[in-house]
Amino acid sequence: MDNLRRRIRLAAYFLLTFSSLTSLFHILGGFEKELKIDARNATYSNIDDSSQGGDTQSVIDFNGNSVELNCDIGEQGRWPFCEISVDLNEITGGLDLSSFHSLGIDVDYFSLIGGERLRIYLRNFDPAYSTEDDPVSYKFNAIEYAPGIGNGIKVIPFKSFQVLSWWIADYEVPIENSGPQFDNIVQIEIATGSHIKPAHYSLKLNRLVFYGHWLSESALLRINILLWIMTAIYFLVVERRRLAEQVNEMGAKADYLKQVNQQLYQQSLAFEQMAFTDNLTGTQNRHAVDRWLRDIVDFSQRNCHALSLAYIDIDFFKRINDTLGHHGGDEVLKEFGRVLNLRARKTDVVVRWGGEEFIIFCPATNLRGAREFAEMVREIVESYQWANGLHITCSIGVAEYLSGEEIESFIQRADSALYKAKSQGRNRVEEAQP
Ligand code: GH3
Ligand code: MG
Ligand code: MG
Repeated sequence: MDNLRRRIRLAAYFLLTFSSLTSLFHILGGFEKELKIDARNATYSNIDDSSQGGDTQSVIDFNGNSVELNCDIGEQGRWPFCEISVDLNEITGGLDLSSFHSLGIDVDYFSLIGGERLRIYLRNFDPAYSTEDDPVSYKFNAIEYAPGIGNGIKVIPFKSFQVLSWWIADYEVPIENSGPQFDNIVQIEIATGSHIKPAHYSLKLNRLVFYGHWLSESALLRINILLWIMTAIYFLVVERRRLAEQVNEMGAKADYLKQVNQQLYQQSLAFEQMAFTDNLTGTQNRHAVDRWLRDIVDFSQRNCHALSLAYIDIDFFKRINDTLGHHGGDEVLKEFGRVLNLRARKTDVVVRWGGEEFIIFCPATNLRGAREFAEMVREIVESYQWANGLHITCSIGVAEYLSGEEIESFIQRADSALYKAKSQGRNRVEEAQP
C-alpha cells in the first residue's frame, strides 16, 4: 500500500514537472520552427502585365541573398502590375504549411511616389478548385500592406490573410472552400499594390520565412491531458487489482477461519461429550440428562405415558473401599456401571447420580414394571461374579412419575424409597409412596 502511494506520488511529481517544463518551453518558444524560403527550395522569377497586353517593364536581379525587382509600370495595361514570383511547386511540389502560423517577410519597397502598398499572395493548390493548366485557379490567400524601406522583417499571421472575393466569384468556390488555406502552397507572389500609378518601382526581397511550431499549444495540451488520464487509469487498474487480491486473500482467510471454526466446533462437541460423561463409569452424568429428563417428562405427560426411575445405591460401599482401597473401589464402580448399562433396556437411560449411586430412568414404564426391572437388577448384582470374590448387593428405590410433579420431587420420592430399603435390611427394592 505504502509502495503504491509512493509510486502515485512519484508519478504526480513527474507529471507536474513534465507539464510545467513543457508549458514553460512552449511559452519561451522552444517548440517554434522556421522554414526559410530561398534559392534552395524555390525558383524566383518576375511577372508583369506585359503578358496581358500592358507595357510595364520589369527586370529581376539576384544579389547575394536578396532578390531585386525593378519595374516601370506602364499605362496601357488594364491592371498594371509587376511582381516577384516565388515558385515552390517545381522543387518542393507544394508546401504544407498547416503547422505554421505566420509569414515573415523583409522587403524594401521604394518608389518616387511614396507610401506604396505591396500585395502578397500565398497561392494554394487544391484539386477541389484548382486545375494545373490554369494558374489563376490556385487559391489567392492575400494580404496588402505598406512595407516601407529598412523596416526589417514583418511578421504577418496567417489569420490576417484573406481569400480574394473576385477569385471566389469567378471560380464559383463553395463556402466550405472559400476560407484561407495553407496546406499546399505552390507559389508566393510579392506584387505591387492596387491602384498603382505609372512610375519606377524598386522591390528588394531580403528574407522570406515561415514561422510555425512542431508542437502546437493544443497538441501539447492534448499530450499532457492524455498523460494524466493514462497515469490515472494505470493507477486505477493497479488499485483495482490490489483490491481484488485483497478480497481473494480475505476470502482465503475466511475459509481458513471457517475451517478452524469447524474444528473448534468438533472439539467443543467432544468436550461437551466429556462434560456429560462420567469419567469413571462411562455412564452419563447428571448434566447430560438434565435436558433429556425435562423433555421426557414433558413428552410422557402429553402422551399419557408412564415414566419411572430406579434409584440404586451400593450397599456398604465404604467397606469395599476399606478392603480394596479407593482405587479398588473405583474399579468396582466401573464394573457396576458396565453391568447396569448391559442390563438396562434400549430406551432406559443409566446415570451416575453421584458417589456409588446410580439412577436408571425407564420411559414408558409404570411402577410395577419398574419394580420388576429393579428386582432383576438387584438379583443380577447379587449373583454377579465380582472381582476379588467380592459379594456385592445394592438397594433400590423405585418411583413412578406423578402427573404435574416437579422432577426433584420425583427423584426425592425414589430416594426416600431407597432409604426405606436400606433401613429395612438392604439388598431389596422398595416402592415410593405417591
Ligand atoms: P450404605 O449405602 O449401605 O448405607 O453404606 P455405604 O458404605 O455405601 O455408605 P454411603 O453410601 O454413605 O457411603 C458411600 C461411600 O462411597 C462413601 C465414599 O467414600 C464412597 N465413594 C463415593 N464416591 C466414590 C468414588 O468415586 N470412588 C470410590 N472409591 N469411593 C467412593
Ligand atoms: Mg450412598
Ligand atoms: Mg452405599
